[in-house]
Amino acid sequence: MHFTTGGHHLNSMALLDILVYPDPRLRTRAEPVEHFDDALQRLIDDMAETMYAAPGIGLAATQVNVHQRLLVIDVSENQDALQVYINPVLIGSGELIESDEGCLSVPGAIVPVYRYPNIKVSALDRDGQPFEKEVSGLLAICLQHEVDHLDGKVFVDYLSQLKRDRIRKRLIREQRPTDLRSASSKEASAVS
Ligand SMILES: [Zn+2]
Repeated sequence: MHFTTGGHHLNSMALLDILVYPDPRLRTRAEPVEHFDDALQRLIDDMAETMYAAPGIGLAATQVNVHQRLLVIDVSENQDALQVYINPVLIGSGELIESDEGCLSVPGAIVPVYRYPNIKVSALDRDGQPFEKEVSGLLAICLQHEVDHLDGKVFVDYLSQLKRDRIRKRLIREQRPTDLRSASSKEASAVS
């Protein structure tokens, strides 16, 4: 007999803590993945579970304080098509387009960012096998957002100093362990 839980089986996976801006660990530049071992498989499963639970459409290892070049993405409507990119390299093309993005590490902020509409991505899959594909739309934007994380960049870097400071101050205030925590951190929907 089978029980389904709406797509995602929890098994023995664990939810990981997501670093929140302006945590300085988000500024770490991730190193290439070299070992495709059991620990990596477990990390991928835990990152996927953490992303789905958030809920988000993408998560970079940097965001869970693991500084390896690994990210998980699921831009499918039913959140049932996990994509894993290891040591990804992106080549962007086309005229930059503005998109409104959210970020699991910057709760409650929607930020307009200019991104390439088309991306050619080369990466390794979870077994270390190389693949290459050309993508566009939401997946292309999400890939650029996540690779920024691996390079120690956060999307607020694209904002003016004034707007960035405003977000930073709000998040520091909200992270205080008091009952005054604002409810506004739950606004964002499609976040990564
Ligand atoms: Zn993000």
